[in-house]
Amino acid sequence: MLNFRKNTFRHGVHPPEHKDETNGLPIRQFPFAPVIILPMVQHIGNPSEIVVREGQEVVRGQLLAKANGYMSVPVHAPVSGTVRKIANVPAISGKMVPGIYLQAFPFSSQEVLEGTPIEETASKEEILQAIQDAGIVGLGGAAFPTHVKLKIPEGKHCDVLMINGIECEPYLTTDHRVMLEQADDIFTGIRYLLKATGAGRAIIGIEANKQDAADHLASRIPDGAPVSVEVVPVKYPQGAEKMLITALLGREVPSGGLPIEVNVVVVNVATTAEIGRLLPHGRGIQERVVTITGPGVKKKGNYLIPVGTPLRYVLEQVGADGQISEVYMGGPMMGVAVSNLDISVVKGTSGIVVFTEKEVKRPQKIYPCIKCGACVDACPISLNPSRLGILAKFEAYEQMTDYHLMDCFECGACSYVCPSNIPLVQYFRLSKSVIRKRQTTKQTAESDK
Ligand code: SF4
Ligand code: SF4
Repeated sequence: MLNFRKNTFRHGVHPPEHKDETNGLPIRQFPFAPVIILPMVQHIGNPSEIVVREGQEVVRGQLLAKANGYMSVPVHAPVSGTVRKIANVPAISGKMVPGIYLQAFPFSSQEVLEGTPIEETASKEEILQAIQDAGIVGLGGAAFPTHVKLKIPEGKHCDVLMINGIECEPYLTTDHRVMLEQADDIFTGIRYLLKATGAGRAIIGIEANKQDAADHLASRIPDGAPVSVEVVPVKYPQGAEKMLITALLGREVPSGGLPIEVNVVVVNVATTAEIGRLLPHGRGIQERVVTITGPGVKKKGNYLIPVGTPLRYVLEQVGADGQISEVYMGGPMMGVAVSNLDISVVKGTSGIVVFTEKEVKRPQKIYPCIKCGACVDACPISLNPSRLGILAKFEAYEQMTDYHLMDCFECGACSYVCPSNIPLVQYFRLSKSVIRKRQTTKQTAESDK
């Protein structure tokens, strides 16, 4: 069933999409880098625990690091090769984290190791365990361990599984291509997910700029499957979970709450496809689809890239078009501008967007707030970014919490519209991390009493 909806959330913005450059380009296999650099912190939670030693030869798909507790996932070998070094490696956060340098065998067929298949008839618990064992995290960029997200808390229940194919971030077309090319994997993934969550039906949400993907998936829904495809208007950040739930179901997730408060679990469409692709073979995740684009890239496209491929190698392969000035991991709205080309593609890397000196005007002068209210009109969750920005400047963190700072999901819509160039979202990211650190320190001090 294919439905068109006029409903959407309040506020939001319409940045230029820049998707035409890659949305018609089929997914291609990326070459294997001679050396893969694998951080053990590719997900939210405890770092994975390395189980191989230096000098050991490994096969593609083999377990390299196990999950360190419930809030963690394992890491599998993206290539067959030799563990050259176990040492700290640079991460996207700018920090050094534990990691593995893996030297690929140059003439290997790079066949992937098969594990024990997980049948669709497996129990809820077995499916959740299999998802953790496969090392699956949110591939939309959040990198939150998927098995944790799918676990329904005591006393709650899930009636709708929402598959997020919105991909509202400018430039990125990863999910778009996955929906066009991996329909079977998506529907297999949905069957596992319905079982794992207990939901009675699934809705695939897609923005109107991907009508071909919506038509394609609607035409491939297996007979009798409780799945519908819903098309929603194009608006940023329509892909945020709370916005999508409001648009498709008219339910409002309360401040500070999760989608399960309104009986919904949201899973990204590429994550769903990966579950459907890996579980029937008992495999772990070793590669992902990444959009490589931007004015600074010669060979733009959607590539299936082994996790751990160094960014420097990626850029060498696709070729720079002009003097590179800024590289984003993820899109320009919610992604991170990287300062180090030695970091690697990780499980959460949905895109690499490269800008040249022509597009990036520097330095951008920051002016005082003129109280124009544009940021208030843009914020999809009706925060007051102008007020929060002023409080951030004065480091008034407690007051910021009163103004619901912790609900901000860093979409960047407020910064995008600000005529004074105030980097509001950077202020909020920083303030949230200070508040979280203070809360942890307080909790530790209390538990030591
Ligand atoms: S970054 Fe936060 S404050 Fe700014 S528009 Fe998005 S949700 Fe609102
Ligand atoms: S958009 Fe910028 S200048 Fe306008 S009210 Fe918000 S912070 Fe102030």
